Amino acid sequence: MTTAPRTVLTIFGTRPEIIKLAPVIREIEAHGGELRTVNVASGQHTDLLAPFVRLFEVPITHDLGVMEANQTPSGVCSRILAALDPLLVHEAPDLVLVQGDTTTALAGALAAFHRRIPVGHVEAGLRSGDALNPYPEEMNRRLITRLATYHFAATPRNGDTLLSEGVRASDIFVTGNPVVDALNTMREQASLSEVSRRALRETTGTKRIVLTTHRRESFGEVMIENLTVLRRFVDDHDEFTLLFPVHPNPAVTAQATVALSGHPRIHLLPPLDYGDFITVLSHAWLVVSDSGGVQEEAPTLGKPLLILRANTERPEAIECGVARLVGGRPERLAQMLHEISRDSSWVDSVHGIENPFGRGDSGRRIARIVGTLLGLPITPPALTDVLT
Ligand code: UDP
Repeated sequence: MTTAPRTVLTIFGTRPEIIKLAPVIREIEAHGGELRTVNVASGQHTDLLAPFVRLFEVPITHDLGVMEANQTPSGVCSRILAALDPLLVHEAPDLVLVQGDTTTALAGALAAFHRRIPVGHVEAGLRSGDALNPYPEEMNRRLITRLATYHFAATPRNGDTLLSEGVRASDIFVTGNPVVDALNTMREQASLSEVSRRALRETTGTKRIVLTTHRRESFGEVMIENLTVLRRFVDDHDEFTLLFPVHPNPAVTAQATVALSGHPRIHLLPPLDYGDFITVLSHAWLVVSDSGGVQEEAPTLGKPLLILRANTERPEAIECGVARLVGGRPERLAQMLHEISRDSSWVDSVHGIENPFGRGDSGRRIARIVGTLLGLPITPPALTDVLT
C-alpha cells in the first residue's frame, strides 16, 4: 500500500532566507515519494529574491505578492497572515518551515500556530541581547522561538541559548547553518557576470576591501560617516581598492553615490547574484559588512571581517578569530583600518580557521530530522544532532 507523501510548507521572502532554505528544500525533495515541499514566496522582497530563486532552482508553488512601496513590518506581517491562512487550509501541510528572523518568518510561524500546524525554525537561537537592535529582527527571533515546535540551531551556543529560555532539549537539533551548503554549491558552479569580472580585473594586484552595508541601524549619520572613512582610507593607501555591491534600498544608494562615487579605486556595483558575490568575497583581502549572512560566509571562506554593527548575534565569528566588531562607531572603523594596514598579522592568520557554522551538510541533516519527526522510517539523526 502506498501512503501519501508528508508535506513540508516552506515560506521565505528575502535573499538570506532562500539562500539558507534552498539546501534544505533540495534534501527534502530528495526523499522522493515520502516527503514533498510546498514553497511559498511571501513577496516581502521581489527583485532581490527572484535571481536567487532561479539560481537555486526552487519551484515556487505560491507567491503571496505582498510587497508594497514604503512597506512597514506591520503591513507585511498582516498581509502575509491574511494570504497564508487559506493556503494552510488548502495545502494542509504536516510542518511549516521558516528561516531566520524576517517578518516573513514571524508571520509564517504565527499563521501556522493559528492553524495548529507544527513549526520548524531554521537558524534558531541567535540573540543579540538587545530587543531593539537589530530591529525588528531580534524580536522576530525571540517570538519565533515561542511559536516554533522544532528548533534547528546552527551552533551549540545557539542550542544552549534556547535551553536557557526554557525550550525542551528534545526539540533542539544542532545542525550547522545551511548557508555553508549553499556557499559550497556556488563555489563549484560559479560563472561570473561581466560586471564582476571587470571589477576583479581592474583591481588585480590590489588589496581588495569588499563592503556590504544596508541594515536599518546603519542608516543616516553612521552610514555616511562609515563610507567617508572608507573613502578616505582608500584615498590615503594606493595599494587598496574598495568593491561595494550596493543594496537597492534608496537610503543606501543615495549615500553610496554621495560618499563614494567618482573615485578611481572605488567600484560601486549592482547587487550581485550569489555566485558572483561569493567569488568577489573570495578575492577579498578584507571584508567590511553589517550583514548577518556575511558573518557566516567570511569564516567559510577564511576571510577577515570587520563587523559594521554595534553588536552581533553571531559571536562565534569573533571567538574563532575571523571577525572583529567595529561597534557602530566610525572613528573606531578608521582606527581598525589604520592598524590592519600597518600590521597584517591578524589578516594573514585568518585563513584556515575552523568554521564554527557548519560543515556543509546542514540541509541533509535538517531534512533527515524533519523526516524522522514526521514519522518516516529513515535513519534517525545521529546522537550529536540532538542536544540532550
Ligand atoms: N549577497 C549577495 N549579493 C550581494 C550582497 C549579498 O548574494 O550583492 C548575499 C550574501 O552572500 C548573504 C546574503 O546576501 O548570504 C545576505 O543578505 P542580507 O545582507 O540582505 O541579509 P542578512 O544576512 O543581513 O540577513
